[in-house]
Amino acid sequence: MAGQEHRQDSRQVLNFIEQACAEKGMRMTEQRRVIARVIAESTDHPDVEELHRRATAIDSRISIATVYRTVKLFEDAGILQRHEFGDGRARYEPASEEHHDHLIDLNTGEVIEFTSEEIEELQRQIAEKLGYRLVDHRLELYGVKLKRDHDDD
Ligand SMILES: [Zn+2]
Repeated sequence: MAGQEHRQDSRQVLNFIEQACAEKGMRMTEQRRVIARVIAESTDHPDVEELHRRATAIDSRISIATVYRTVKLFEDAGILQRHEFGDGRARYEPASEEHHDHLIDLNTGEVIEFTSEEIEELQRQIAEKLGYRLVDHRLELYGVKLKRDHDDD
């Protein structure tokens, strides 16, 4: 198991987004660049409204419609990965992140990232037994925090 340490440097993520945009021939407008920066600097899984809130802190002229369009554009270009963690809200993270899975705290909505070599291996084996080579997977765990005896929070 590993925690947040696989998170990439926000500069690297921004470079990835800008390069991907250039490769797809997408024009990098000033507002798109701000949105790209906000995405690159996010260490959580913000939804469009949250991205808009963060983007307008940098440039108050950015509308929610622009954020929606940009996020859709980035998603279609494979720059962003979209998640839905059971609450019907679409949340985003850069597709350049190393593979990881998510655990969602049902009480707080907190999203915890983890990786497990055992799970990866097990999934490869299952796919192979079914006659497939595993290419990708998504795994979401939903849980409530265990009460521990010496919890002081
Ligand atoms: Zn994640």
